[in-house]
Amino acid sequence: MVLYEEADVAGSAVNAAFNRRIAAELQGMQEQGVYKTLLHIMGMQGAVVELEEFGETVNLCSNNYVGLCDVPEVVEGVREGAARYGAGTASVRFICGTWDIHRELEDRIADFLETEAAITYTSCWNANEGLFAPLLTDEDALISDALNHASIIDGIRLCKAERHIYKHMDMDALEDALKRTQDKRTRLVMTDGVFSMEGEIAPLPAIRELCDRYDAVLTVDDSHATGVLGDTGRGTPEHFGMHGEVDIITSTLGKALGGMAGGFTASSRPVVDYLVQRSRTQLFTNAMPPHSACGALAAIDYLEAHPERVQKLRANTDYFRRNLVDLGFEPIEGDTPIVPVIIGETAAAMKLSRELLDEGVFVIGFGFPVVPRGEARIRCQVSAAHEIEHLDRALAALDVVGRRLGVI
Ligand SMILES: *Cc1c(COP(=O)(O)O)cnc(C)c1O
Repeated sequence: MVLYEEADVAGSAVNAAFNRRIAAELQGMQEQGVYKTLLHIMGMQGAVVELEEFGETVNLCSNNYVGLCDVPEVVEGVREGAARYGAGTASVRFICGTWDIHRELEDRIADFLETEAAITYTSCWNANEGLFAPLLTDEDALISDALNHASIIDGIRLCKAERHIYKHMDMDALEDALKRTQDKRTRLVMTDGVFSMEGEIAPLPAIRELCDRYDAVLTVDDSHATGVLGDTGRGTPEHFGMHGEVDIITSTLGKALGGMAGGFTASSRPVVDYLVQRSRTQLFTNAMPPHSACGALAAIDYLEAHPERVQKLRANTDYFRRNLVDLGFEPIEGDTPIVPVIIGETAAAMKLSRELLDEGVFVIGFGFPVVPRGEARIRCQVSAAHEIEHLDRALAALDVVGRRLGVI
């Protein structure tokens, strides 16, 4: 498929040689089968979504893990917030962009995660990007899992601390990095709580033990675990019975907790106060809109009142995994609602995803550079929003398409 006609590219108001180069690179992506096409949802995020391009589909690819995006109490929280606080802040926080509701949400997050304090950002991307550079200098070391999220990688790039990237979840490699950095003032170990492309849970007790032995700061990005793991959705620390044992937690309000824009860093009072002073994604960009803060508060309230949502998510995940294996698929094993099935080549994963869409199931294929070459996959994500009937529909389509393409 030709993406752009030469006449259109050359006729653009943008510099012709530049525009032609960009168009040619996109054409290359298209020819390699790795060009992403955006699909358009018409309505609320939920178990079933209406796609402009494919009609009604069972949604197996959202981070709406406990199904709070369309819960009336949460939507009403946003609506009331907009009525009370208007459209937005029109200022960064340290000038006139901080609302009472920001403080209330931050206290609530700290309470929920059992930390002393928390600070919100417009996204967890911004929380991670603004985390390391203020807290660490070239006197320090930053030790990071090789498969950490892109926002962590970018945050690390902005920081002058000595970098050590350890092999994914390899405790010997982590210990080695800790040994080699003993002359540094501070050693900060950074890991995702749940790795989004594998659905694996970081071995937090072992990492904590190493951090204790080498006097290092343990930082966890719990974006795929907040609202998801543990009996009440308090994340990876709750999963391991390690409340209050993580030095710094970053996470998102944009996944399980209602899916709106927002993220946060939760830690001790001094660490949070330091970020207020120095974190650049706090100082030079607006806070999350007050209505989003209201929605996030409503989401946390709802989850606390309805821990059975977390249990339902677990039951749905067990059901889906079990049946997927019975069909002959070989998903990456794990205890999270992220259920990836490795297909191999990127184009094959994209084809599988495309044919599933035709069968009324919304699943996305991921290839290089999001995951390593040759490990392209489809990633199924289960939600408490699903009823068994939805999961059965998805499994039936996976059966049909999986056989047709020779995956099972
Ligand atoms: C999704 C995600 C983020 C980004 O969250 P946003 O709030 O959408 O910016 C950061 N870290 C991890 C591990 C994530 O999965």
